[in-house]
Amino acid sequence: MELLRPESAKAAVAALGNGSVALAGGTEVVPLLRDGLLRAETLVDIRGVVPRGIDGTRIGAGTTLAELEVDAQVPDALREACRLAASPQLRSMGTIGGNLRQATRCWYWRLDFPCYLHGGDRCHAREGEHREHAIFGNERCASAHPSDIAAALLALGARVRTDRRELDVNDLYRLPTDDDRDVVALAPDELILELDVPVPDASVYLKAMDRRKWAFPLVGVAAARAGGRVRFGLAGVAPIPWLLTSTDELDAATPLPGTEYKLRIARALVRRAFAAL
Ligand SMILES: Cc1cc2nc3c(=O)[nH]c(=O)nc-3n(C[C@H](O)[C@H](O)[C@H](O)COP(=O)(O)OP(=O)(O)OC[C@H]3O[C@@H](n4cnc5c(N)ncnc54)[C@H](O)[C@@H]3O)c2cc1C
Ligand code: SF4
Repeated sequence: MELLRPESAKAAVAALGNGSVALAGGTEVVPLLRDGLLRAETLVDIRGVVPRGIDGTRIGAGTTLAELEVDAQVPDALREACRLAASPQLRSMGTIGGNLRQATRCWYWRLDFPCYLHGGDRCHAREGEHREHAIFGNERCASAHPSDIAAALLALGARVRTDRRELDVNDLYRLPTDDDRDVVALAPDELILELDVPVPDASVYLKAMDRRKWAFPLVGVAAARAGGRVRFGLAGVAPIPWLLTSTDELDAATPLPGTEYKLRIARALVRRAFAAL
């Protein structure tokens, strides 16, 4: 395998695609390569070329979760989402850009079952073990998006700047379809460079986990109030980070037999987050 260290973001983009994969902190890329779930002839180390650091509402995609969790410029919901993610070692390596592109933790997917998300025609989790799976958007793939950070960014109404366009963080994700099983709406050679995270009047992130530390969200609820409006971003409830613009939208959930408990947790956390705001 070849490792490239390009001199600019433009050179990195030119080197991506066609069997090349971007490498930031490597906390996701390395395990996926090890497990044969990601194949790459070339790794393009983007750490020297993707912006890193926080300047008011702008956050470089190369900023680590550890840097975000302690910076007072960062809204509470995002700081708390970073603080509650993974372990200190992972947060000191893992970047916010890499976090937004992380793959599902569905055990069937990670064990390389030929499931819908891998291009097959069945969801093994729907019929099998699905305690940690979705309660929304789970018709084809019932996986639960693991990013605490994406949920916070959704509630905060963040925008993403890539090497070629700007988009709402909500448009970064889409449910998998028969034509496209990728839940991230980025081209294979597209790099996230920066995020713009508006400062809300108040925000909060609450996370239910199997353990109090180093666990993915069973349900994560971010809430942000800005100009009299409240938005909620949920983690661990759908194949993509899930936006709720009103609490009534919880009534549209479609839990599986093994995930009904998650709807009760989501209702409780949404209520608590709203009260906290
Ligand atoms: C044991 C474990 C526990 C974890 N727990 C949590 C948790 O509780 N909550 C949570 O939210 N996350 C959790 N994570 C995920 C962790 O936060 C991410 O792995 C990390 O943030 C990824 O960042 P990275 O820089 O290491 O990405 P990498 O591993 O370098 O890259 C990840 C993916 O993103 C792509 N990529 C990286 N940077 C960019 C960019 N700028 N533009 C476009 N594509 C890019 C890479 O090509 C790759 O596909 C956990 C991870 C592990 C391994
Ligand atoms: S939940 Fe998604 S990733 Fe998991 S087995 Fe079903 S299709 Fe595959």
